[in-house]
Amino acid sequence: MAVQIPDAVNTTQSDWRFCKQCHSLFFNGYQEKGICNGAPQVGGGHSAAGWDFYLLADTDNLR
Ligand SMILES: [Zn+2]
Repeated sequence: MAVQIPDAVNTTQSDWRFCKQCHSLFFNGYQEKGICNGAPQVGGGHSAAGWDFYLLADTDNLR
């Protein structure tokens, strides 16, 4: 089944990953991995697992 992408989408961003520690989506495109509430040490970063998700965006419609 083909994915239906809205006509307004004109860019994408990859490197959105699932965190296996806190079960949320985070941006994995920076060296710093943020602060994860599920990290084994306080202040530890998110830990990527599974698929690389892409966000779709319409940059002509900034608000
Ligand atoms: Zn996390």
